[in-house]
Amino acid sequence: MSNFAPTKPISYGRQTITEADIAAVVEVLQSDYLTQGPKPIEFETAFAHYIGSKYAAVVSSGAAALHLCAMTLEVKPGDKVITSPITFTSSANCVRYCGGEVVFSDIEESTYVLDIQKVRTLLERTPKAERSAYKGVVPVDFAGLPVDMVAWRELADEFGLWILEDACHAPGASFLDRQGVERRAGDGSLADLAIFSFHPVKHIATAEGGAVTTNRQDYYERIGRLRTHGITRDPNILQENHGGWYYEMHELGYNYRLTDVQAALGIEQLKRAEQSLKRRRDIARRYEEAFAGTPVLVRSVPTGFHHAYHLFVVEVAKRRELYDALRTKNIFAQVHYIPVHLQPYYREFGWERGDMPVAEAYYEHCLSLPMFPALTDEEQEYVIKNVLEFCT
Ligand SMILES: *Cc1c(COP(=O)(O)O)cnc(C)c1O
Repeated sequence: MSNFAPTKPISYGRQTITEADIAAVVEVLQSDYLTQGPKPIEFETAFAHYIGSKYAAVVSSGAAALHLCAMTLEVKPGDKVITSPITFTSSANCVRYCGGEVVFSDIEESTYVLDIQKVRTLLERTPKAERSAYKGVVPVDFAGLPVDMVAWRELADEFGLWILEDACHAPGASFLDRQGVERRAGDGSLADLAIFSFHPVKHIATAEGGAVTTNRQDYYERIGRLRTHGITRDPNILQENHGGWYYEMHELGYNYRLTDVQAALGIEQLKRAEQSLKRRRDIARRYEEAFAGTPVLVRSVPTGFHHAYHLFVVEVAKRRELYDALRTKNIFAQVHYIPVHLQPYYREFGWERGDMPVAEAYYEHCLSLPMFPALTDEEQEYVIKNVLEFCT
């Protein structure tokens, strides 16, 4: 065993920045447009191609993407939207931005994603007269495991719901449907809208940034307007036209644009997406092999599913102690996530401990180990050694 010791913390996730990334950013800084130039359009075209959707709209963050989706789906006070308690708070917050009600439903123990059977039961047990308040569902491709979107589409169609897929963890993930056709996370073929984040811990970094993908042109156009104040210059929809300077604001939007500086970085990062994904999968395989047959629990990926490994989650008996022990060794593991329904903000709506037993039990034991393409073999060995030393 080598006596490698890291000189700075090994975090659970981090970006990779190359010389090409830096050159692309510098080039934009020296160009005419720092924002509203050609780069965001170039980035969104390339991103849609990678994801397999007809359209992608890039925005200023994943949270902004979620907000604009909730607006596009017309969430309003009185509407109920179902999501998972094991996600980043944004998946739920987008419903609140529009005044809707968040209904949490528990996760599946073996995959950590929203349990579709429990959602079905919830809907079936709701008296018919009250069922129409349920408008949509926000399933999360947790850690990078895509949800079975074929099954979600069937459920959504049966109950008249829309689907907003939170695919922040899963660019490049896929699963085989019953016909053996590969369905990529966020590809627009099943969910109405999907969103991604370009925060540095995610697969593609633009510092802050996000995207919405969809196959619906009307949704794409609406998101394009909403991200820029609700303003349009499209001659086909202008109510008047006073000249070349003229624009109209048709609804209340925001400034949620991605800048050219950020988009240039995204374009370069996207070129390495497949290679980075492969590296994440190699790292996952090494962890799986190292922890097989030990008390460090790694859930297996269901057959036909291709995980994108934003996170590598293990479950251990003494999670808090392991977290602290790893910190003393310069390994900064993380917990994903504190159940959202237990956040003080959501408790005010009546959610409490005991409401989501599977999610709450998961939270007691989960830990995300370092998982990012630049993690070296030596660093990973060091992480494995320290985890096993503590747990066995
Ligand atoms: C990161 C993340 C978001 C929010 O993305 P930001 O770009 O940080 O706003 C939303 N949902 C999930 C599941 C995430 O992991």
